[in-house]
Amino acid sequence: MTAQRVAVVGAGLAGLSAALELKRAGAHVEVFERMRMPGGKATSFIVDGVEVDNGQHVTLACCTDLTAFIDTLGMSHTVRMQPRFEVTVLARGHAPSRLRAARLPAPLHLMPSFLRYPHLTLRDKLRVSRALVAARRDRAPQGDMATWLAKHGQSAAARTAFWDPFLVPALNAPLDESSAVDGLFVIRTAFVSDRRAARIGYTTVPLVRIAEAAAARVDALHLRTAVIDVEHDGRRASALRTESQARPDFDAYVLALPPQRLRALDAAQPQRPFGIDGLDAFRTQPIVDVHLWYPVARGRVLGAAGFAALLGSPVQWVFEKAPGYLCCSLSAAGDAVRLPESELVARCHAELAAVLPALQTVEPKRGAATRDPDATFVPAPGLRRPGPRTALGNVVIAGAWTDTGWPATMESAVRSGRAAARAVLDTAATGSGSTTAAAQELAHAV
Ligand SMILES: Cc1cc2nc3c(=O)[nH]c(=O)nc-3n(C[C@H](O)[C@H](O)[C@H](O)COP(=O)(O)OP(=O)(O)OC[C@H]3O[C@@H](n4cnc5c(N)ncnc54)[C@H](O)[C@@H]3O)c2cc1C
Repeated sequence: MTAQRVAVVGAGLAGLSAALELKRAGAHVEVFERMRMPGGKATSFIVDGVEVDNGQHVTLACCTDLTAFIDTLGMSHTVRMQPRFEVTVLARGHAPSRLRAARLPAPLHLMPSFLRYPHLTLRDKLRVSRALVAARRDRAPQGDMATWLAKHGQSAAARTAFWDPFLVPALNAPLDESSAVDGLFVIRTAFVSDRRAARIGYTTVPLVRIAEAAAARVDALHLRTAVIDVEHDGRRASALRTESQARPDFDAYVLALPPQRLRALDAAQPQRPFGIDGLDAFRTQPIVDVHLWYPVARGRVLGAAGFAALLGSPVQWVFEKAPGYLCCSLSAAGDAVRLPESELVARCHAELAAVLPALQTVEPKRGAATRDPDATFVPAPGLRRPGPRTALGNVVIAGAWTDTGWPATMESAVRSGRAAARAVLDTAATGSGSTTAAAQELAHAV
């Protein structure tokens, strides 16, 4: 019996996780990627001779599929995961404060440090607590997250000191542009269901190493190879076409691409590519990261914690990637994405110096900015995101933006890839009956 031959288009985390699941099920898998390296939005490149991530990526302990994906690659040792949720909070005119999980059941685990938290009045703390309880119960919220918070009595101070630092980066969108469904999902999944869920982790190696490890497991990785068309008759795809050749030798196709790229692959019906509706309703949001290298004599600027949240600053989070190398993360960065690098470097240095006395008397030795105007996808509130299946029997889609229930994150990308692989394997199992035992096992297990 010959194994299924599957083409995966896009070597981001969605495509690579689909590829790995399909390989595990015994398929022959080839991956096509237009860039010169894998990883997509979760990659690294060289800036002035130093390998930096295209943007600081963090994961949470509740991102279980991403964790499993990294484990499968034998790379769990490259993720530094907190033993318990703990965040240093920096604000102008205040000493650093901490929010951390106590050994209490959720949602009480945050209460002891929350009660000591200096940036909210007692009245705001009570309102925040009530909103957390409401978030746990409200299973069908309507509209956008900012409106939901306002409806639940959250003041501007509570937004600045509590909700925005966690929700804006998690959703990568201003809260008036994020759906309450997504906002409450984050609160429920990370903060009020399990005291260990919000533990923060990040890779200690350049992010691209994860994608490279995954890509090394497929049968062929075609880099610098953009797919320009998928030929089909409205029911099944018969070939994919790159700039240099047509490849009619695949049984199934996983298109793990952003919505606008997906549209370009179906020249016959660009308004409704592969029968998928609503691609126009996804907006992109920018992320800016500013990398600053300080001349530190010894120790770390941020101490053992390694990262901190900033209140009331365009820099929401700062990470110390190596002693003196600080990476400032600006989610939902708005117009900042268009600022010149020198201005971003100067602004971020000023923001850090305002809250970190150690930086008030030094200038960064070097600075660089990485900017992605289309970092993540946000569906219009109320939009139903598409699942993996398309109108074509042997074409499935994947991507962080598809219907995984998660905001467009690495976790969502990996989940979407697994769902796409399951759809390919299910079709093989029910359609031709020619799938391998491993494929059937995975089709039921994934
Ligand atoms: C700066 C930044 C910071 C982020 N921070 C976080 C974070 O802290 N935590 C988190 O969980 N998530 C974060 N994200 C989001 C996360 O990186 C993405 O949601 C996820 O990696 C998307 O994966 P994907 O596979 O769905 O899409 P992509 O990574 O976009 O992959 C799609 C791939 O398809 C390729 N491609 C496109 N067209 C073609 C074609 N025609 N032929 C062949 N290949 C093609 C692309 O080059 C790309 O490699 C961040 C993103 C950015 C940009």
